[in-house]
Amino acid sequence: MKKNTFQIPERINEETKDYLKGSPERKTVIETYNSMYSQKIDIPLYIGEEEIYTDKRKNITPPHDHQKIVGTYSICSPFHVENAIKCALDTKEEWTNTPWQERASIFLKAAELIAGPYRAKINAATMIGQSKSIFQAEIDAACEFVDFLKFNIIYMTEIYNEQPITVGDVSNRLEYRPLEGFVYAITPFNFTAIGGNLCASAALMGNVILWKPSDHQVYSAKVIMDVFNEAGLPKGVINMVTGDPEMVTNIALENYNLSGIHFTGSTHVFKGLWSKVGANINMYKDYPRIVGETGGKDFIVSHPSADSLVVSTAIVRGAFEYQGQKCSAASRVYLPESKSLEIFENLKSQIGTIKMGSPIDFENFMTAVIHKNSYNKIVSYIEKAKNDTDTIILIGGDYDDSKGYFIAPTVIITTNPKYATMTEEIFGPVVTIYVYPDEKWKETLQLVDQTSEYALTGAFISNEKESVAYALKNLRYSAGNFYINDKPSGAVVGQQPFGGSRASGTNDKAGSKLNLLRWVSPRLIKENFNPPTDYPYPYMA
Ligand code: NAD
Repeated sequence: MKKNTFQIPERINEETKDYLKGSPERKTVIETYNSMYSQKIDIPLYIGEEEIYTDKRKNITPPHDHQKIVGTYSICSPFHVENAIKCALDTKEEWTNTPWQERASIFLKAAELIAGPYRAKINAATMIGQSKSIFQAEIDAACEFVDFLKFNIIYMTEIYNEQPITVGDVSNRLEYRPLEGFVYAITPFNFTAIGGNLCASAALMGNVILWKPSDHQVYSAKVIMDVFNEAGLPKGVINMVTGDPEMVTNIALENYNLSGIHFTGSTHVFKGLWSKVGANINMYKDYPRIVGETGGKDFIVSHPSADSLVVSTAIVRGAFEYQGQKCSAASRVYLPESKSLEIFENLKSQIGTIKMGSPIDFENFMTAVIHKNSYNKIVSYIEKAKNDTDTIILIGGDYDDSKGYFIAPTVIITTNPKYATMTEEIFGPVVTIYVYPDEKWKETLQLVDQTSEYALTGAFISNEKESVAYALKNLRYSAGNFYINDKPSGAVVGQQPFGGSRASGTNDKAGSKLNLLRWVSPRLIKENFNPPTDYPYPYMA
């Protein structure tokens, strides 16, 4: 194998299936969903060679049907976390020395398994456990995950090919070593693909991993572990533990061999991790690499020249797909006065047709929000907006958690551009609109830049070329992913590398070469073919 070259995958995104009525993929995913829904799964910890079922278990309940129990997952103890780190480190020598072609072929096989035999299962697990509609599950759990796995192989070879020059009788090369210790991956509930990618990207580069998925993504996390296993990933390369996040984190962050943290989740949790690493800095062998993609308060700005239907469609899709639970979801909107009434009417008629309910009913555009805490938090923002004097609810404002955590798509209008729902991340189907006088569109861009601590995604919609150039210049640091005449969500691997700065993260761009570079520690090797035999230099003669 070491002597072989390797045909890297083509730069082609996984095609999204349509799930039209009567299509084979629709039939298969419905059958898979129904079968999984009527059974009870039991999810272990994955530590080295072992799958461990602990005495302490928690129930898995679909957010859209919270009294239904579809399975249980094991809760780890501190002993399990220590052991998982030990197993990772014990596996390190062999995995690090596995030729990159072999590592690549394992993850390529994982991609093929997800694209094929596991597609319905990983989509159904995401629909059940995270309440995604079939389309939202397909673009995440199937397509984005396959793209992450395949494109990362391309980026890895590009990194390996980046070499210093060799001059005369001196040969130079860079060996892209994996980090010396282990990488701790902590992942959020809202993207199955992120769960898989945060472990797989670092593992592809030769690292060993402790993975703690979100309690609210465990069902699809189990499918990911099954896929990695079937693809031939040696046991112990990725060790998955579920349980108290603080306990797991404290143990991982107090370990001498912690070499990296690969986090996606909320800003306050990430800041907590960073401060713990700072406080523990004398404990480590390495300076741990810290990569975190965190919260957002993503904007849409409509220039007075924008087409009203383009604006309202960007708002509806950007704010309400997956119930607004995307880090990139549009949650604050700036409309010119001259177009605002027309856009309000468009919104009323578009949102009026949205259906909400279980993801197994394919007519539903929206389903439930992830859990009770999230539901309560979103409801409190809505209630506040109902009572405050500087806000009105234009659309929605209803909610019902009798069966699932359902919140109607809600549009708030405010006269206060710094109102709470214009500045704080809500992570639900709530969008707030501020209407500005047309002639003040330049000042409004200043407001957009200075309103929130976040800088993840943003969209500028305009039919006037000069205004686009002005917005690009004046919103340079307001968003890491900037969209012109589009919604601010829906990044595709290989097309829109994703991430933001300020309170939104370290902007290491998931699904790009930049991210993979964080998981290597290059060693320069210089070989002199003609070493000198005396110390004086010629000028000394
Ligand atoms: P979260 O911060 O609640 O949880 C993320 C992970 O951190 C989970 O595994 C959780 O168990 C763990 N965690 C929670 N508290 C912890 C603690 N005290 N110590 C250590 N670990 C802890 O986030 P979430 O609700 O799962 O996901 C939503 C958040 O993620 C939003 O803020 C969203 O913007 C963000 N997000 C960002 C991106 C991005 O690319 N920027 C992508 C997806 C999600």
